Order: sequence, then structure tokens, then C-alpha cells
Amino acid sequence: MNTPQNKHCATCAGDFREGVPFCTECGRVSPAVLGEGDIALEIDEVPSERIRQEVVSTLRAWFPQLEPIRAAASLKAGKSILLSGIDEKSANRVLEALATLKVRGRPKPVEGKSSWLKWIWNPGLAVSAVSLSLATVFGGLLALLLALIALGAPVAWALSKGRGREPLIASPRAGNQADFWVRISDEYSRVFEQLSPQDSENLKAFVRKVFQLQRRIESESLASIAAGSDRGDLYLSLNDGISSAVELSRRILTQPEEKIGPLREEIGKLNELADRTAGWYRQLEGPVIKDASVLDAELNAIAESIDRIVREVRPLPDVRLTSKEKTSL
Ligand SMILES: [Zn+2]
Repeated sequence: MNTPQNKHCATCAGDFREGVPFCTECGRVSPAVLGEGDIALEIDEVPSERIRQEVVSTLRAWFPQLEPIRAAASLKAGKSILLSGIDEKSANRVLEALATLKVRGRPKPVEGKSSWLKWIWNPGLAVSAVSLSLATVFGGLLALLLALIALGAPVAWALSKGRGREPLIASPRAGNQADFWVRISDEYSRVFEQLSPQDSENLKAFVRKVFQLQRRIESESLASIAAGSDRGDLYLSLNDGISSAVELSRRILTQPEEKIGPLREEIGKLNELADRTAGWYRQLEGPVIKDASVLDAELNAIAESIDRIVREVRPLPDVRLTSKEKTSL
């Protein structure tokens, strides 16, 4: 059976399922947040069937694209490449999380960037040599056929050997955005633990709503199209919204009592806007679909309201998405 705590944050009972970028209970970054790099993550064989099942189900909670049957077979057979093309910090985060399941592994340089000569230098070449010498003996159509075998043998061999080295998680969501999540979660955890219970609840509620909305933006093609480009301007506005909510909360901790009221109101407004956005998405599932231009105008109004708060709050640069990170979405 699943042991639920393993799908959760290693620090507390916060939830890491379905691509949540950081734990809203403590600010720990999820193992599913991956920065781009030239590191592959190799993990050791998992001989125990019980632990193997647990590892597969945990990995699937973090990376829904994992194929469970293939992953279980690979973990049983020996060392596996779990991820490839990530940075070392991300690899270490995954390893740290897997250590709670007693699974060990190590970051390695990405394979497969060695020369084609090395790649093709394999026992398939022996087949090539035999085929080629036979081709010179026979001539004609048979020679052509043998020449083709000579060409194909080393490639086929390399491909068959390479299959086992394909990462179990094929297309992780690696990107420059990982740095943003590391920075914002750091500030979130620092602020969150000092807030009063009510203020921390308000901040957490908003961040959770944003995570849910961002999951919908990523998963619903219709809504994504309506929300602008692939992931949409709304996605970016929501990230800025998190930065603003964290900054407002930070000010609640430092400002004199009389100035705190308006700061709390702003966080309340952000929560309202997140609810309005969720309501907008619900409309898409309803029986009456409004005209696309009406939907577009409604969503723009919401995004504009969030942007207005962001402009007023002006979160510190280190808790905001940089322009480079914005274009990498
Ligand atoms: Zn946590």
C-alpha cells in the first residue's frame, strides 16, 4: 500500500502531488522542480518489491509522465537513469527526497554526447566486416544487401544498448523557472514561519489557489488558448501575484500596527482575484459557453487587476521572475 507521507514534503506533511512547486506548509522546494543542465541522475537497483512499488508510486506523484510498468522493470533490473539534462542542485533535491525511501543514486554527466565513432564502435562492427567481405565475393544484388547489413549492424547494436539508458522520466519540465521557485520558496518559508496564524493562513490560501490555477492552465488546452499563448500571460501574472503576496506578508512583519490593515486588505484582494479566476475557468466547463471575445475580455480584466496590485506592491527583484525567466516559459 502507499505510504502517503512519502508523496509529501520531507520536512513536514505538506503536499507535493501534481506538480506543486513548493510546500505551502514550510516552503521546501518540490523534487519536481528541475533546473536545466548537463547532469543525469542515476539511481541504484531496488531489489525489494515492496519498496520498488513505493518508489514508483512516489515518483509518479512528482512526475505524472512516468510509465509505472517500465519504471518498475528498470528498477528491478539494475541501475537506471531517472532524469537527464538537469542541473546538479535539482539532482540533489530528487536524491534527498528519494533517500527517505532508502533509494540511493548519484548525479552523472549526461551520456550520449560522446563522438559518433565511440557510439558506433561496438560488436556490430564485426558483423559489418563479415558482410562487407562476403559482398566483395558475391557481387550483384546480394552484395548490395550485404552492404546494407554492414551499414546497419553497428547502428542497430548501439540503439539496442542505448535503450536501457533512456531516462525513465523522458521530458521533465526543466527550465529557468526553477531558479524563481527556489528564490520565492526561500523567502516564503522565512516569512511564513514568523506570521501570525491568520496571516499565514491568508498567504497560504492564495499560494495554493495559484498552484491549482497554474495546473489548470497547463492541463486545459481550451483554457490555455483563451488565456493567451501556450501558458499564457495569466500564468506570469499569477507568479507575480505570489511574489506580491509574499512581499505584502513580509511588510506585515516589519510595518507598525496602523499600516498593517491596508496590507492585509491587499492580500485579501489577491485571494478574491484568484477566486474570480477559478470561477472564470469553471465557466468553460458549464453548459453555456460565452463568446470567445467576451471570455477574453473577462480574463484580461482579472489579469490586469492582478498586475495593478503587483505594480503597487513592487515586490523585491529577487522574489520576482526575471525577464529571462519569463521568456523561458
Ligand atoms: Zn513542508
